[in-house]
Amino acid sequence: MATTTHNLGFPRIGARRELKFALEAYWKGLCPREDLLRTGSELRARHWGEQQALDLVPVGDFAFYDQVLDMSFTLGNLPARVRDFHGHPLDNYFRVARGRSQATGGEGGCCGGVTAGEMTKWFDTNYHYIVPEFDTDTRFEPDPSRLLEQLAEAQAQGVRAKPVIIGPVTYLAIGKAKDGCDRLDLLPRLLPAYAELLATLAARGVEWVQVDEPILVTELAPEWRDAFTRTYETLKDSGVKLLLATYFGPLRENLDLVTALPVHGIHLDAINARDEVDALIRTAPAGCVISLGVVNGRNIWKTDLEAVLDWLEPVAARLGERLWIAPSCSLLHVPVDLEGERKLDPEIRSWLAFAIQKLAEINVLAQALAQGRAAVADELAANRAAIDARRNSRRVNNPAVQAALAHIDAGSGHRRSPFAARAALQAARLDLPRFPTTTIGSFPQTREIRLARSQFKAGGIDEAAYLLAMQAEIGRAVREQEALGLDVLVHGEAERNDMVEYFGEQLEGYAFSQGGWVQSYGSRCVKPPILFGDISRPKPMTVDWITYAASLTDKPMKGMLTGPVTILNWSFVRDDQPRSASCLQLALAIREEVLDLERAGIRIIQIDEAALREGLPLRRAQWADYLGWAVESFRIAANGVADETQIHTHMCYSEFNDIIASIADMDADVITIETSRSDMELLDAFDDFAYPNQIGPGVYDIHSPNIPTQGHIVKLMRKAAERIPADRLWVNPDCGLKTRTWEEVLPALASMVAAARTLRAGV
Ligand code: GLN
Ligand code: ZN
Repeated sequence: MATTTHNLGFPRIGARRELKFALEAYWKGLCPREDLLRTGSELRARHWGEQQALDLVPVGDFAFYDQVLDMSFTLGNLPARVRDFHGHPLDNYFRVARGRSQATGGEGGCCGGVTAGEMTKWFDTNYHYIVPEFDTDTRFEPDPSRLLEQLAEAQAQGVRAKPVIIGPVTYLAIGKAKDGCDRLDLLPRLLPAYAELLATLAARGVEWVQVDEPILVTELAPEWRDAFTRTYETLKDSGVKLLLATYFGPLRENLDLVTALPVHGIHLDAINARDEVDALIRTAPAGCVISLGVVNGRNIWKTDLEAVLDWLEPVAARLGERLWIAPSCSLLHVPVDLEGERKLDPEIRSWLAFAIQKLAEINVLAQALAQGRAAVADELAANRAAIDARRNSRRVNNPAVQAALAHIDAGSGHRRSPFAARAALQAARLDLPRFPTTTIGSFPQTREIRLARSQFKAGGIDEAAYLLAMQAEIGRAVREQEALGLDVLVHGEAERNDMVEYFGEQLEGYAFSQGGWVQSYGSRCVKPPILFGDISRPKPMTVDWITYAASLTDKPMKGMLTGPVTILNWSFVRDDQPRSASCLQLALAIREEVLDLERAGIRIIQIDEAALREGLPLRRAQWADYLGWAVESFRIAANGVADETQIHTHMCYSEFNDIIASIADMDADVITIETSRSDMELLDAFDDFAYPNQIGPGVYDIHSPNIPTQGHIVKLMRKAAERIPADRLWVNPDCGLKTRTWEEVLPALASMVAAARTLRAGV
C-alpha cells in the first residue's frame, strides 16, 4: 500500500539561471536558435533526472517564457496581430511575450512590429504571466506539438510523465476580453480544443493529466461555478484521468463544487487548507484520488516532517492507495537547489529547503507512510534536529525586539495633528512654490556605480574607496538637480543595489542566498532576501548618506526609505509567526530610522510602499484584515515624527480603487503615484474618495526612453488639476530613474521643471 508521490511543476530557469542566459543571448542575436532549444531540452532532462525518485513527474511545466503563454499557443489562441507571422513559431512566441519594434519586425521585412501581450501577476505570487487575449471572434485551433515533444523526451528518459495544463475555466478567468465580450461565451468553443488535446495525450499512452484550476481558491460568481460543472462533464470521457489541481489557498465554499466534479483526482493545498482535508475526504467520490500538498511550495523552510506525519498517517490509513502527496503548488516559486549555497550562514542554511530538497522531503514522507517511521529514522532525526534548532535559536527569538513591540501603543501610529494643521506648518518651514517638483528617489545606476559596488563586494576596493565613489555619485546627482531647478532633492540611491535588499542587509534577522533566484517573468529573476528572525536595526542605515547629500545643498533633501509592507512582500518570510507580526517588527525598525533622519535635520522623509497592493489576499473577504495590519505597520513606521516633518510615500501603478481608503488611512502628507500612462484617469479614484492630502501624479513614464515634452506634461497636470485641487499637487516622474541613462533623464526633468513653471505662471 504505497502512497503515490508527484510534483506539480519544477523551476525551469535552471540552478545557475542557464535558461535566462540562453534566452538573453538568443534575443541579442548572439547565439543561434538551436543553442537555445538545446538549453531547453538539457534543462528538462536534468530536471526530470532530479525528480526521478517521484512516481509521477510533471511534463509541460517548462516554458521558454511563460507557461500561460505556452497554453495560449497550445490552444491556438494567438492575438490577431501576430497570426500571419512567417518566421519560426518560437520567434512569434517571443513577439507576443516581449513585443517587437518595426525595425526588427521579421524575416524579409514582411511582418512588422507588434505590441507585447499584457503581463500581470499569477495569483498572489511574484510570478508574472502573459494575459490571454479574447474577443467575440476568438477561435481555438489546438497545436499540441510543444507538449507532445516534451512528452516524448520524458518518455524516452524513462520517467513516468504527467502532463500539466492550465484548466479551461482558469484559462478564461485569468484572460482579458479585448472587446468586452463575455469570456464564458467562449467556453463552448474552448472545450472541444481541450478534449482534442486530452485525446491526443491519451493516444500517446498518458494515464494522468494534471489540470490546474487555481481560480477555485477565489470567490466565484455563480456563472463561473457553473462553468466548472459544464467543463468537467464535457471532459470526463477524454481518455485520460484528470487530476484537478487547486493551490494557493483553501477552497471554502467551492469545496462542494470541486468534489461534485467528475474527475479522477483532486489536489488540495494542505499547507493553506489543512482544515479542509477531512471534508475533502468525506465528500470526494469513492475512488477519487486525493492529492495533498504537504510541503510548502512557496517558502524556503524545511518541513517539520514529524508534524506532517502526525496528521498524515491517519489520513493514509483511511485513504490507502488513493492518497498522493506533493508540494502544495508548483515549485516555480522557490529556488532550485540549496546545495550550491556555500556562503550562507551554516546555521541558517540548515533550516532551509529549496526545490530539490523539498522533493526529497516528499520522498521521506512517502517512505515513512509505506514502511513506518523507523525506515527513515535517520532522515527524521536530522530533520527534527534542524526544526528544533531553528525554533530555539537565539537568532530567531530576540527578547529585545519583543520588548520593543510591547511599547507600541494606540498613539504610536498617529501624527500629533490632523493633515491641515501639519500642512500649514510644513509649508512655512519648507517654503516651496506651488506645483513643487521632485523625483521618486533613484537616479541612473551607471556602469561606474555597478563597477564600484562589485569591486567593493569582491574586495577589490576598500570601504573608504567605495564611500568616495558613492559620494561622488551623490554629489553629481545633487549638482544636476540644482542645475535643473528641482525643488525637493534626493540623494539618488547610488549605494543601493535593490530597494529591499539594501535594508535587509543592514537589519538583524535577514539572510541572503547567493543563488536563490526565482523567476519573476521571462528571463527576469529575483533573489528574495530571507527574513528568518526577529527584526532589529543595529545602527542607522541611511542617515550618513542622506546627511552627506543634504550638506551639499540648501534645498530640502528628501530622506529615502523602503516601507515595512514592501520589504515584507518582496522577501521570503517566516512561517513560524503571522506575516502581520513580521511586518510590525519591520515597521519598528523603519520607525527608528525615520526618527534618526528627523533628528539629523532631514525635513522630508519618503517611505516607499511600492508593493502594498500586491500583498492583497486572493479572497476579497480577507482584504480588510491584510489592509488593516499593513496600514497600521506603515503608520507605525512613519507617524512618530513631529508635525513639521513631511512624510511622503510612493506607490507604483496599482488598482488604486481597491485600496484608496487604506491609502488615505496611511495619512502620508504626500503620495507620489505612477499615473502617466493612464492619462491621469487613475486620479479619479482619489477624486471620488475626496482624498484629503497632497498627491504627486507621475507625469512621465520612466519605463520608456521617450523624452516627454513640456507641453505634454502641462496638459497632464491640467487634467490632474481637474480632479485634485492645484494647491495639493506635486510634479514628479512616475517612478525611480535608476534604469534610465543621464542622457534621458536630464532633458526629461528639464521638461518637467519647465512645465511646473508654466503651471505656476498660470499660462
Ligand atoms: N525610491 C525607489 C526608486 O526611486 C522607488 C522604486 C519603486 O517604486 N519601485 O527607485
Ligand atoms: Zn514606483
